[in-house]
Amino acid sequence: MTDKSSHFDTRAIHAGQDFDPTTGAVIPPVYLTSTFVQKGIGQLRNGYEYGRASNPTRTALQDLLASLEGGTYGLSFASGLAAEDALLRAALKPGDHVVLGNDVYGGTHRLINRIHGAWGITNTVVDMSNLFEVQSALKKGSTKILWIETPSNPLMKISDIAELSDIGHQAGAIVVVDNTFASPALQQPLALGADVVVHSTTKYLGGHSDVIGGALVLNDEELAEQVAFIQFAAGAVSGPMDAWLTIRGIKTLSPRAERHSRNAQAIAEHLVGNPAVERVYYPGLPDHPGHELARQQMSAFGGMLSLAIKGGAKAARRFAESTVLFQLAESLGGVESLVNYPSEMTHASVRGTELEVPDNIVRLSVGIESVEDLIADLDAALVRSQKRAK
Ligand SMILES: *Cc1c(COP(=O)(O)O)cnc(C)c1O
Repeated sequence: MTDKSSHFDTRAIHAGQDFDPTTGAVIPPVYLTSTFVQKGIGQLRNGYEYGRASNPTRTALQDLLASLEGGTYGLSFASGLAAEDALLRAALKPGDHVVLGNDVYGGTHRLINRIHGAWGITNTVVDMSNLFEVQSALKKGSTKILWIETPSNPLMKISDIAELSDIGHQAGAIVVVDNTFASPALQQPLALGADVVVHSTTKYLGGHSDVIGGALVLNDEELAEQVAFIQFAAGAVSGPMDAWLTIRGIKTLSPRAERHSRNAQAIAEHLVGNPAVERVYYPGLPDHPGHELARQQMSAFGGMLSLAIKGGAKAARRFAESTVLFQLAESLGGVESLVNYPSEMTHASVRGTELEVPDNIVRLSVGIESVEDLIADLDAALVRSQKRAK
């Protein structure tokens, strides 16, 4: 229904979404089936055999994801970490080395360090925004993956995807970008030179906090086949209902991303100078160290921001427990606003490592509610954060 020349907003609604040829249903059905009837032994209908291998609803999502990231192959998994695990197993063997940022998603560090570490994979953690540090960590011959996450979590550091792709390729590494925070609506890593895009589709792609999922998009045929084989053989596939919910979410990704970004920018600008806030971390602020780079490689600055609260851990905790519209929960990227206290929630698994997050940081996932209401909620909670701090 769409070709590669269609614009992003058109592909988000039509890629992989041909109407049902039997009935004309505008929306491709959810194929809630575990297996497929064969015409004769081994004679499959359109290649469908068994639900772990493939399902038409999952195919529709995979085609959509590949189209949005501008890649050839899309694969949809049971979760973001399941996608990461399949990629690591496909690309690495014991003795191989991974270079990753000191602010990657905590679960990514845990997976590489503790799960794959136990199978002989080594890693070096670096400041990904420092190109010299990255260069000296890459070991030609043994570094097989350079793992980038930008904007990063929770301090919104911006890393240069194009530069890092060059550096990684010179060392013979596969360059992976976790594009969860930006989403393909705001940033397209493959076009900037990366080899593989990883997503937790749980976040902005799904967009409604109602489904867990993950994805990989890539161009290399051999690597795609290896990943697909691991997905089939180990089984971390997304179910048809999950795939369908994700497709449904993606249709509004573009307008959501615009609104998330606009709300977050207004909130960031409003909070600068608030006496209860030591620092606002948002790439849309001109004094953010990654602002210029973000302007080049992203089409907007996204819906995630973090605050350093004056008064340390006590005040930060009080703030996170005082907001009303911003509900206290892990995760991000949904239409509703969330507040998170990283050092004891999302980043508890990296306490005591070089990924530890300062205990006065709170992270906001800015939703698409009225920005006036969101600002009023934050202002009131900031006042409460300081009340009993003295
Ligand atoms: C949530 C998240 C993941 C993990 O995804 P799950 O769907 O929770 O498995 C990976 N990377 C980033 C940046 C995330 O926010």
